[in-house]
Amino acid sequence: MKLDFWNKEPIDPSEPRYCKKCGTELPSTDNHSLCINCRAERAQKWKNIGIGAGTALGTVFAVFVAFGNKNPNQPSDEDDENQNNNQA
Ligand SMILES: [Zn+2]
Repeated sequence: MKLDFWNKEPIDPSEPRYCKKCGTELPSTDNHSLCINCRAERAQKWKNIGIGAGTALGTVFAVFVAFGNKNPNQPSDEDDENQNNNQA
């Protein structure tokens, strides 16, 4: 007995798939919905966002450290830093 109504049609691996963004035909082995170019583009975009966020965080951190070092009653931090530099 066949239950065609319940059986979902299996995905044919030989069926051509296309990039969702630019429509380039994708290789059947590629499970992504975007072609390699669009994925590279997207990765680059996220990389740029990451660099921007990292720079902003770095600036905040630098300001935080600059204000934190204004306290002259904590000379131990500087000594640790010098020791590390000598080891390296
Ligand atoms: Zn594409």
